[in-house]
Amino acid sequence: MAGESILIVEDNEKNLKLVRDVLQFNGYQTLEAGSAEEGIDLARSRRPALILMDLQLPGIDGITALSRLRGEESTCHIPVMALTASAMSDDRARIREAGFDGYMPKPISVRDLVSKVERILVTAATASIDTTATED
Ligand code: MN
Repeated sequence: MAGESILIVEDNEKNLKLVRDVLQFNGYQTLEAGSAEEGIDLARSRRPALILMDLQLPGIDGITALSRLRGEESTCHIPVMALTASAMSDDRARIREAGFDGYMPKPISVRDLVSKVERILVTAATASIDTTATED
């Protein structure tokens, strides 16, 4: 399943570098944005297989960005995983309700990151196969 392009939207340089290095080491291509606005533009133009979205960003936040992505035909199908410093159960519920496909608590665990990314990509691929099957 490697080789897919993954968009990282993260304003913290250290986190961005960690996520980029881990994904590239595991064979993924990366696209990077330091703000949600920039990330939305890249999602539209490059159609990544997955977006990793920090929640606290300069300008619009990750939850607002998710709703904009879901509101557009060209980006609504792209799975989005939240990157969040908050692991409180209230926040987890809020993230789930917002419609994220998963979340990654910070500090980021390299092993968890890789397994969650793989799982979301497999789920997305399976969902698109199912859709094709029912349309026939
Ligand atoms: Mn941030």
